[in-house]
Amino acid sequence: MKNRVEELRRERGLNQGEFARAIHVSRQTVSAIETGKYNPALDLAFVIAGYFGKTIEDVFEYRGGKTMYCEKCSRVFDGERCPVCGSRRVRQPAEGDLCFLAEQDYLTTSMLEDVLKQENIPFLTKGVMGAGLAIKAGPTLERTRFYVPFERLQEAEEVLDELTGGGEETEE
Ligand SMILES: [Zn+2]
Repeated sequence: MKNRVEELRRERGLNQGEFARAIHVSRQTVSAIETGKYNPALDLAFVIAGYFGKTIEDVFEYRGGKTMYCEKCSRVFDGERCPVCGSRRVRQPAEGDLCFLAEQDYLTTSMLEDVLKQENIPFLTKGVMGAGLAIKAGPTLERTRFYVPFERLQEAEEVLDELTGGGEETEE
């Protein structure tokens, strides 16, 4: 990972087009920056970092950039501490590690299952109950967490993107 633009954009729930409009550049520019094909000029880097409330170093000179795996919640991330559960029980991921992919509601669970099967990506699912209301409201509140082996994670994330991105983020 060359920079954190994509990660930060996703954290804010923006697609490339929405983010591009927010910082007044084309979607192609955002795409090129995120993939590391294009390094933004300092003024644009400043705008992007400022948009996320970060420093330029935070966004573009991501130190180490070492991918780690949280043994507690199975997240894969860059850094020394799990950003999701705060655990420091982290190590470098190994082949076969089951990594958290996404949490889906009952409507999208079967869609994701279908595409992962189509792509021959092995996965494991775990049901989680939503916010303690599950007993009252029944199975519709159940959410499903998807885990895939580390070596297939990137591929699975791309599949998930296509499913949830509405096809807008096409590569040129
Ligand atoms: Zn964790």
